[in-house]
Amino acid sequence: MSEPLDDLYRDILMEHFRYPRGRNKLEHVHLHNEGQNPVCGDEIEIALELEGEKVKDIYVSCMGCAISVASGSMLAEIIKGKSLEEVKKIAEVIKSMLKGKESRNELELGDLEALKGVRKFPVRIKCALLSWTTLIDAILAKEASKKAQISSSE
Ligand code: ZN
Repeated sequence: MSEPLDDLYRDILMEHFRYPRGRNKLEHVHLHNEGQNPVCGDEIEIALELEGEKVKDIYVSCMGCAISVASGSMLAEIIKGKSLEEVKKIAEVIKSMLKGKESRNELELGDLEALKGVRKFPVRIKCALLSWTTLIDAILAKEASKKAQISSSE
């Protein structure tokens, strides 16, 4: 654990940790979920305001280590304006990136590239993924309840 994060990655993470994005409360909440990472003690709350299938606005409140907070902030930054399908795709790319698989991806990850630095610290991968798994769980639950509604109205 003595190997430091690359300076560039660390600077990006720290900037997000100090000034996290997505801290404004939403007027309308269409999706909401909370998540915990007991290994580290990170806790997160995520809410989305949707416009059709697109993310109009997002609220992220994370209490935890620098990596979990920075990752939640980056999530808030990148998914605004994206469709839920795109959000799921980005989450897949982040997951495989953190697991060390170089996936062929055409997505513009921006600051999220900095999470690559976390790969060297396997215990922190859960910190980096917390915001993503919490959000994806909420999206999948919404899709499942939609399907249930459709089949019950038939
Ligand atoms: Zn953590």
